[in-house]
Amino acid sequence: MVDRAVEKSSLGSDIPIDVAIIGGGPSGLSAAIELKRCGVSRVVVLERESEAGGIPRHCGHPPFGMREFKRILTGPNYAKKLVALASAVEVEIHTMTTVVEARPDGELLITTNFGAEVINAGRVIYATGVREMPRSARLISGKRNSGIVNSGALQSMVYLKHRMPFKRPIIIGTELVSFSTIMTCHHAGIKPVTMIGEHDEITARWPYSVFPGLIDIPFRTGLRIFPRIMGIPLHLGARLIAIDGDDNVSSVQIELANGIRQTVECDGVILTGKFTPEATLALSGHLDIDPATGGPVVDQYGRCSDPVYCATGNLLRPGETAGWCWNEGRQAGRLVADDLKNKLPEFDRRIQIYLSDTLIKYAMPKFVGLPLSAGMEDLQLRFKNSAKGYIIGTSGEETVYRRKVSVHPEHRVIIALDKLTNKCSEGNIQLTFEER
Ligand SMILES: Cc1cc2nc3c(=O)[nH]c(=O)nc-3n(C[C@H](O)[C@H](O)[C@H](O)COP(=O)(O)OP(=O)(O)OC[C@H]3O[C@@H](n4cnc5c(N)ncnc54)[C@H](O)[C@@H]3O)c2cc1C
Repeated sequence: MVDRAVEKSSLGSDIPIDVAIIGGGPSGLSAAIELKRCGVSRVVVLERESEAGGIPRHCGHPPFGMREFKRILTGPNYAKKLVALASAVEVEIHTMTTVVEARPDGELLITTNFGAEVINAGRVIYATGVREMPRSARLISGKRNSGIVNSGALQSMVYLKHRMPFKRPIIIGTELVSFSTIMTCHHAGIKPVTMIGEHDEITARWPYSVFPGLIDIPFRTGLRIFPRIMGIPLHLGARLIAIDGDDNVSSVQIELANGIRQTVECDGVILTGKFTPEATLALSGHLDIDPATGGPVVDQYGRCSDPVYCATGNLLRPGETAGWCWNEGRQAGRLVADDLKNKLPEFDRRIQIYLSDTLIKYAMPKFVGLPLSAGMEDLQLRFKNSAKGYIIGTSGEETVYRRKVSVHPEHRVIIALDKLTNKCSEGNIQLTFEER
């Protein structure tokens, strides 16, 4: 373990760091801005990339910024606006700064151009975001040919490095990011040959109405026809079986919904979606991790098992939009500012949320402290498959919650925490799903 630096970065000054934020994406930057607005003195954002802004930096398309700025921006313009706002309120943004260890008492081992260094912060906010599941974790067989990328890598090649890794790829997945991949391809002059999705319906849901109350576009219908408008056949209920080719991809084998296998000639494969929290740092540290979300275990204040640490944004659970994460970051900033001033309400008791149904993918937060007064107002749930039925919450012998729902994979379902907990007298709630 390296704890000594030859020279020190400007982080190691004598002025104590009140809050260090790991990750300079929308959630980290909005947390930082809010902390400064709440009067916190020294707030530092630690960002491993050469520029802050997070994922939107390489999403060269709209729509970003509706919730935050009531304007439609491209990802890079949105990222620049967040960085400018943070700089305007004197948030210190340290780029090319990677946190490699997060230890108890807010001690962080970082690497910068000056080498390794240890810094200390009064509070630490984890805001390291999500990434897409790589080929190995998706168990896709075939050789190690070039031309197999995630949509994040493609965006970065196209928008930041102006490279074109292939000309006729297949797109795997139908999440929102899969459709933005069509726009990335279009921008670069890449012509995808086919798009396939494993479910019978497209997975994407539109994050918000374009102009709420005025124009509510039936967006799933729009998304379904969008690939066809772009000349890309869409196969639902289909899966990728194998990737062929030696040095480069030459074709792929897919299985269609009717069980028929097909060879699709292509020169690349874009693996989209299947988000997982970027929790490598948290996993190698001392915090409790929730295997269901893949992120740190938190209560409704976003506080981790070590209360010096808090988590926000997409690290909490995969994978929300920039606007949603920006809002979570803002709330985290406010709560941490209150915590530093000892103004955060104490809990009389805590309820742990358990999942007793394999259809439920995750629930976040895992702990809910009572009485409810500040912090997240809802429990966020995701489901693995489409189903209609009832979400049921039981505590001991009592049914404390029951709600009729229609669920779809990767669609957010929220339960108001007051409705879930107001009849609960025990220390836990089991969530199940009863199909109709
Ligand atoms: C490929 C891809 C495409 C997406 N496209 C869209 C889209 O079109 N629209 C949309 O609304 N959402 C999109 N998203 C969702 C996206 O995650 C959110 O928009 C938003 O960026 C989440 O903000 P965040 O701050 O939680 O995380 P991020 O934006 O991911 O920011 C996390 C930051 O933490 C930094 N970091 C991570 N680990 C460390 C470390 N150890 N030390 C220092 N820094 C670290 C990263 O470099 C990164 O800058 C996409 C996600 C992906 C993966």
